[in-house]
Amino acid sequence: TVKNDPKLHYAFYNESIRQKMIEENRIRDRIDSALEKGEFVVYLQPKVSLANGKISGAEALARWKLPDGRMLPPGEFIPIMEKNHVIGKLDKYIFEKICIWFQNRIKAGVLVEPVSINVSKLQFYNPDFVKEYREIKDKYNVPDGMLEIEFTETVAFENQKYMLKIVSELHENGFGCSLDDFGSGYSSLGMLKDLQIDVLKLDAMFFRNSSGNIEKEKLIVRSIINMVRRLNIRVVAEGIETQEQVEFLKEAGCDLVQGFIYYKPMPVKEFEKLIDVRTEAVRENIYPKNLNT
Ligand code: C2E
Ligand code: MG
Ligand code: MG
Ligand code: MG
Repeated sequence: TVKNDPKLHYAFYNESIRQKMIEENRIRDRIDSALEKGEFVVYLQPKVSLANGKISGAEALARWKLPDGRMLPPGEFIPIMEKNHVIGKLDKYIFEKICIWFQNRIKAGVLVEPVSINVSKLQFYNPDFVKEYREIKDKYNVPDGMLEIEFTETVAFENQKYMLKIVSELHENGFGCSLDDFGSGYSSLGMLKDLQIDVLKLDAMFFRNSSGNIEKEKLIVRSIINMVRRLNIRVVAEGIETQEQVEFLKEAGCDLVQGFIYYKPMPVKEFEKLIDVRTEAVRENIYPKNLNT
């Protein structure tokens, strides 16, 4: 049949690769101007403490706001930016945006929450990375302990000696450090013992029940959480979508959950609304209504 004609297959294949390359080139050519024009925006996804159900920090996630109003998710531009070695610029841009956010909030006297920021392999191997981030952090007077740098497991374990050095430099400069997407690659728990990271983010794949053996998978996650917490590392579970998963994680001793069950990534203004409710609550506690009665 026509469908099985290898020549035709080849033609379709070629055409789809060609389309993909055209699209990639288009995106690549627009990146510099998009950075200049400020087309990249930060979304924040709140993390929720399982101990008290309250928001405890957020992760900054990049979005590309196209002139036609569409919001491109990172999956559509980050691989292209990585391939073209320009991802470092985006990382730094998002980081600076967050520092500015802190400065504005603190000036306004309203509550802030710690924010974690993703850093690519390109920044990781930039020899001035920590120095440059420190300078930006100082420029906007962001207090120590508010910013946490996320490296993916793959990047962090590629060169463990170097990772150790980066982690201690980050700590010396007031940054926290977390290991992202843990469980998605090939690293082992043993590797964690030397690494002085603050947070481990369990990849969503842990909660997708891929093997069909739920009890076995639960056992593994429970053991990982148990061991990681003994190492004084906080555990964040990512990609949590059901109440059942939340109940399990609570019982397993997980610290924080970041997932659609609570919140999706949202514009910074929306995040502010969520935490401003708490600013009000704090004010009311400091100045009880019956103070003058
Ligand atoms: P990540 O750092 O692991 O971020 C978590 C991703 O999981 C986010 O996808 C988030 O929207 C998604 N997620 C969270 N909870 C759920 C859930 O319950 N269900 C599902 N289906 N997804 C959930 P997003 O925003 O599309 O980002 C994808 C990846 O792009 C990030 O994964 C991160 O590796 C990368 N990325 C985002 N912003 C930056 C950046 O500024 N710099 C760098 N280098 N990478 C970034
Ligand atoms: Mg991340
Ligand atoms: Mg992750
Ligand atoms: Mg991920």
